[in-house]
Parts: sequence; C-alpha cells; structure tokens
Amino acid sequence: MQFRNLPSVDSVLSTDAVASAVKAYSRDWVVSLVRQELDEARAQVGNGATAPTAMELAETVCQRVQSTARTEPRPVINATGVVIHTNLGRAPLSASALLAISQASGGYSNLEMDLDTGRRGSRQSHLQSLLLQLTGAQAALAVNNNASALLLGLSALAAGKEVIVSRGEAVEIGGGFRVPDVLRQSGATLVDVGTTNRTYVRDYEEAITENTGAMLKVHASNFKVEGFTASVESEALVELGMKYGIPVLHDVGSGSLLPTERYGLAHEPMPQESVTDGMGLVFFSGDKLLGGPQAGIVVGHKELVQKLERHPLARAVRIDKLSLSALTATLLHYLADEAETEIPVWRMISATEESIKQRAEDWLTQSGVQGKVEPSRSAIGGGTLPGETLPSWVLALDCRGVSGGPEEVMSRMRRADQPAGARPVVARPVVARIEDDRVLLDPRTVAPDEEVDLISVLRQVMEVR
Ligand SMILES: *Cc1c(COP(=O)(O)O)cnc(C)c1O
Repeated sequence: MQFRNLPSVDSVLSTDAVASAVKAYSRDWVVSLVRQELDEARAQVGNGATAPTAMELAETVCQRVQSTARTEPRPVINATGVVIHTNLGRAPLSASALLAISQASGGYSNLEMDLDTGRRGSRQSHLQSLLLQLTGAQAALAVNNNASALLLGLSALAAGKEVIVSRGEAVEIGGGFRVPDVLRQSGATLVDVGTTNRTYVRDYEEAITENTGAMLKVHASNFKVEGFTASVESEALVELGMKYGIPVLHDVGSGSLLPTERYGLAHEPMPQESVTDGMGLVFFSGDKLLGGPQAGIVVGHKELVQKLERHPLARAVRIDKLSLSALTATLLHYLADEAETEIPVWRMISATEESIKQRAEDWLTQSGVQGKVEPSRSAIGGGTLPGETLPSWVLALDCRGVSGGPEEVMSRMRRADQPAGARPVVARPVVARIEDDRVLLDPRTVAPDEEVDLISVLRQVMEVR
C-alpha cells in the first residue's frame, strides 16, 4: 500500500499549473477538484495502483478546469454539405441578425413597452406586422419553436375534441417529435383517416362529428411516399372546413419564404401559399429554410390566432428577446429582397457549382494534402426536402497514409481544438463525411471566413509538413 506516497492537497496546489488555475478561477472550485482527484487516486491505490505524483494530479486537475471553463456550444466548421444540419445547430444567422441580438440584449430594450405612449406594449407587435406583410395573413404569433406552436394551437382550439389527420401524415418528424404524441399532449383526440398512401376528401368528411375541433394537414417533411399515392389538396380541405365550420390547420414544417424550385429543388410548401389557400392557421419553424433563430411561427385567421394568444400555454412557450430580435432581422432580409445574399442558408443553397469547385481546388493547393477535387451532391437536411440534393464539388481526402484511415481523420478533425501533448490549439472542430473510404469536404456549407481555420486543421490532421 502506498497511501503515504499520495501528494498532499497543498503540494498539488503549489504546482505552477494549478497555481495559475487558482489565479484564473475560483479557489474553492479548484481546491474541490484537487480533493476529488485525490479521493479518486486514493481509491485506486487501495486497488493496488501506484500513487500519482503531484505533477500528474495537477495535470488531471488542469484538464478538468479547461474542459469545464468554456462556453458550449462551441463553434464548429460544417463541411458535410448538409445545409440545415440539426446536430450542428440548424441555420446559421445573418450578420444583421447577430447584431440585432447584441443590440437588444446587451442593455435594456423596449421589449414590452410602447415608446410612443410609455405604456405596456406587446413583444409581438413589430414581428406581427412583418409576418403579415410577408405572408398576407391577418394575424401572426411567434413562440419558442414549431413543436410548441403546434402544441399551443391544438391545445387552444381542440382540447377535449377530435382532430382529423390523414394516416399518411400522422408522422414522426425526428428527435422524438411525433404528431400523435403532440396531439395527445394537447388534450385532443387523434382521428386518423384514409390509408398510409392514399387519403381522399370523403375520408375526412366521413370522420367529421359534432366533436371535431380541427382538421390538421402535416407536411411529411422528412420522408417521401412514392408511387400509388393521393393526398388532399389544401383548397379542398379548406372548402370542407368552411362547409362544416371547422378550422383547418397546416404544419408546413420548414416554412420556405422563397420558392425552392428556383434553385433546382423540388417545391417546398410556402407559408404564403397556405395563407392564400385559406388555411386557418399555418405553422412553421424559424431555423430551417427561413434561415433565422429557433422559433415557431403561426400565421392565419385573426380569431384563431387570438385564441392562441389568450391560452395559458402561450406564456409558457413564449419567444425570448434574443430570438425575437434575430427573427425580425432575418425577416427584414426578405422585405429588402436580399435573402439570397444576406441569409446564410440561402447563400449556400444559391452558391454556383463553379464557385464551389474553385474553393475546393484552393483548399487542395493551400493545404498541400493528398486528395482530389471531384463532383458530388450537397443535401438540404433538417427534415426538409427529403432526398433532394444540389450538385456540388468536394475535396476528397486520400486517407491511405493515415493509420486508422478515414475514421481516424474524421475523429482528429472533430477534436482539432483540443490540445494534446505539445500540439498547439490552432482551430475549430471540423465535421465532414465519409464516402468510399475517403473523407469528403464540401465548401458549400463552409463560410469564407472559416477557410483559414479549415486549412490549418487539414494540415494538422493529415500530417502535412
Ligand atoms: C421540423 C418540423 C417540426 C418541428 O419544428 P421545431 O421548430 O424543430 O420544433 C414540426 N413539424 C414539421 C412538419 C417539421 O418539419
């Protein structure tokens, strides 16, 4: 037993490394880490291990300090070519959205004060007027995210009632978000009609009872049913709703305000189209193809939106001032007709093949890695436009010179910002994809100001000397 070889708390605290940690951070915190590590070492010595030195313990303590004392999420370079990558934070924000966040939150703001009268105002009013102009709706409301928008909408309009949904649309959107679960949570009862591949207006009509609260149409945004299919057009459903006085709700998912077919993609439903079709309420996300912050947006008929505003859940799911400021800044890009140049997701979607190819070639020359530039495809992602891709170009890294191959290269790229031994911390983590034993890097989703970092990561992980 080597218990007496264990260093004392003071000897660990007096190492240079821990002493400088104590200067930078709370002494109590660092001391508690030292004690925890000593307890751990004591337990291991009890199991027959040799006692660590004060220097060894100091290093462990400093690693814990470093891994705790940083903000999360950390910035990451997305070289996957997936534009709306849910695991990487969905849509990046425009420069003016970022500025709006810092201006609205670094000090006080008129969040809920009408500056003309000095009285209490609504945090929604300016956003509402932008949304009305962009979608043509009578009323609008923004909340925390689209899932909570739907929960609020169904709770306010259909709790204790039945909601008719096509069987092919009672779907799971991903991340555990299932339409039937949200419906149940709202207190409504799901009545599914039709079959998985075909649903007709008469299916909805036959399901209508005195207790029907709403009909819900959901854009099956993350999968495609092909072949012998039929779904009911919005106009036909709206007509049926009018005949029986039942509100028709439309969850369009991504909520693209621009026509995706302009970029060679399939048509993604647009909120303004659903408004024109006469939908009672239209639901969509702020951080998918809209290109803004996390938010759930509802536009539609005034008397329905008012029911949502007055429901107690509205307060529980309300939008915060940071998202609100970023969302208004993002919507202004559409009014200024500059979405394609100012909003990152649209800039990426509209990037030309030639410009992407040129950037991949520049990366190859500037990094000096083994690899080649070749045609490939980028995806939209984020549960929008399933199976739809854009022609692109990638830098394909030849990983045969690295033991561990492409998996090892990917792993090194992901950990590129973590110091290991004498290696300097140079850059941000990079996320890419593997195809045919090569690591592919797609310039489409990499911002120009991230390229310097990306190239230094490539040199580091591919061991270019
Ligand atoms: C993404 C999506 C949602 C969930 O939206 P969040 O903003 O992530 O809450 C709901 N419905 C559809 C159809 C979607 O595509």
